[in-house]
Amino acid sequence: MRPTILYPLFAPLNTLKGIGVKYAGLVENLCGCRVVDLLWHLPSGLVDRRCAVSLRSAQEGHIWTGKVRVLEHNAPQTRKQPYRIVVEDESAQLTLIFFKTYGDTLTRLFPVGTQKIISGKLERFNSSWQMPHPDYVVDADKPQQMPQIETIYPLTAGISNKMLNKLTAQALALTPPLPEWLDETIKKQHNFPSFNQALLETHHPRCPDDLSPNSPARRRLAYDELLANQLSLTIVRERLKHQKGRALQSNGLLRQKLEEILPFTLTAAQKRVIAEIENDLHSDYRMLRLLQGDVGSGKTIVTLRTMLNAVECGYQAAIMAPTEILAQQHYETIAGLCDKIGVKTALLTGSIKGKNRQKILTDLQNGAIDIIIGTHALFTKEVTFKDLAYCIVDEQHRFGVRQRLSLSEKGRLCDVLVMTATPIPRTLVLTQFGDMDYSKIDELPAGRKPVTTTVMPLSKIHDVVAALKRKIDSGTQAYWVCPLVEESEKIDLSAAKERFESLQHEFGNLVGLVHGKMKESEKNAVMEDFKNGKIRLLVSTTVIEVGVNVPSATIMIIEHAERFGLAQLHQLRGRIKRGCEASGCVLMYGYPLSDVSRSRLNIMKQSEDGFLIAEEDLKLRGGGEVLGTRQSGFSNFRVADLSLHGDLLFLAAKEAALILAQDKNLSSPRGQALRTLMYLFERDEAVKTYLAG
Ligand code: ADP
Ligand code: MG
Repeated sequence: MRPTILYPLFAPLNTLKGIGVKYAGLVENLCGCRVVDLLWHLPSGLVDRRCAVSLRSAQEGHIWTGKVRVLEHNAPQTRKQPYRIVVEDESAQLTLIFFKTYGDTLTRLFPVGTQKIISGKLERFNSSWQMPHPDYVVDADKPQQMPQIETIYPLTAGISNKMLNKLTAQALALTPPLPEWLDETIKKQHNFPSFNQALLETHHPRCPDDLSPNSPARRRLAYDELLANQLSLTIVRERLKHQKGRALQSNGLLRQKLEEILPFTLTAAQKRVIAEIENDLHSDYRMLRLLQGDVGSGKTIVTLRTMLNAVECGYQAAIMAPTEILAQQHYETIAGLCDKIGVKTALLTGSIKGKNRQKILTDLQNGAIDIIIGTHALFTKEVTFKDLAYCIVDEQHRFGVRQRLSLSEKGRLCDVLVMTATPIPRTLVLTQFGDMDYSKIDELPAGRKPVTTTVMPLSKIHDVVAALKRKIDSGTQAYWVCPLVEESEKIDLSAAKERFESLQHEFGNLVGLVHGKMKESEKNAVMEDFKNGKIRLLVSTTVIEVGVNVPSATIMIIEHAERFGLAQLHQLRGRIKRGCEASGCVLMYGYPLSDVSRSRLNIMKQSEDGFLIAEEDLKLRGGGEVLGTRQSGFSNFRVADLSLHGDLLFLAAKEAALILAQDKNLSSPRGQALRTLMYLFERDEAVKTYLAG
């Protein structure tokens, strides 16, 4: 249960004063629908409205604030003229200009002879000062009504900065004084203010330095968020680890048979990783381990080999993949080998229905299937195992914390291996998985030749086509990947069709087209023609990102490469790395090309190391963008920015481990405060699931 002290913050926006339904909708689009969301909507600038100089020494184009006396009103003679009010300070005169007036508002606001404090942008007109529509006008005896320093927030149409300031002020006032959850030493070391103070300083910057993500106040909030994240991950991990598991120790016969039929020898990295995983499997606590390996590093064989440990013991193992194509691909590889060594496998996806499905479900339940490969379908209630001992979840980051473990709950004391082909920088591994045991295949099978990558503008497309023609005439096969126009398959499609038609002029029926809107059977037919060489140039949308394995295709052209995420480019390029021939990738870009895009393309040119590419991408774009897509689930920080606060993340990971070592159930007074922190940043799933009261 959320602590009552936080209720006011999690109330809906319309509990604030002066906000109607329509406005609440606008603010919701900007930052969220609850009061707390205003707190995480951070300022982007400030305007200094302190009275500093007289008019005589004021600067044109700047905001000027000062005390003036109203001299005279000049109402317009014609409709086109503005309304003018002449005022003066002790040094000069100034004309206030109003293009819109409503009734007698101006005569009431500026009675002749009174003194006012005004603030707005100064302009020069014929050597005299003008101020069109002052931002603020307050009575001279109420100077406190003038915001000394006004906070500027990122806005969207329909929301004024003044209004957002008012709402945020209410949100701040509603924030109760929260108990300190940070360690005093860390607080001192980093010069962190208290949480409440940090919020105030963040939303009321006094100088440009206060706006920096590296100001002590903002770092404190970022640290709080990272600590909440690390605590929740650590709680989940510790609970699992401390459960006794089953020691999957066996005679190794199946593993030996597998070794005999493998068409290649394992790389040193594969062997090392297998040993790490088996070490966990053989021990009697539960495994929770992350396996990372770049595209083509040979993860599938590692999963099979380790699953055989469970099968040898008479138990079952499962692999869950995020898409049908990936599940299908795992299945083909694994079933092919398992058939030869007498291990029973099956594939279960949403599209397997009727009798077939029923048979699989029955066989899983009675133990006739040793290894099951599937999609989310494996989660469903109807799926029950005879005795599931080991499960592997592929492309883990697409699943949530809960989902991550719910497959393992179908077994008894299941060992869990989480697997990802997306190279994730260490910082993101931490935020996504916590300080989890970690194995990395950092070597590709021998014989893979490097890919030569060139970067060139789209204006050189004719040269590219001419060079491609020579290659294709001499028997090479190539991919042509069409631009991602939007997150809309429709627009992608028309671009791909157009390119396909123009390439047909050059290549005739040697060119084929495949896209996501085609029927499965049509797609397979085209792919089959590409595999057997009838088609030599395959034009596609990004559907080839996963699931394609054509070793003889060694060239890839990517149009508008600047529109793809780095990780996506890396995955795409991985497709031409399968064979042992030297291959080439051409990244074509359009204008305008931002500096960041240019740097990103250069990284692609210089490196083939997915981990390095991911690290660089993180530096260039910040954590939220690192995978090129938002739905990847990495961009869930409100205040912390991994490209800037990486150091705090490591600190938070250490601190979380220390805290839980001393106060496992977060029951001490500080533990209670930390629970509040986790609710505040909505990392409370672990608290609800794993901690008592
Ligand atoms: P990943 O899933 O990591 O992208 P795969 O497991 O699909 O990679 O392996 C990619 C290709 O490399 C497959 O064709 C596989 O048979 C092959 N392969 C795997 N390990 C080796 C190895 N040690 N030596 C040679 N080829 C290998
Ligand atoms: Mg694979």
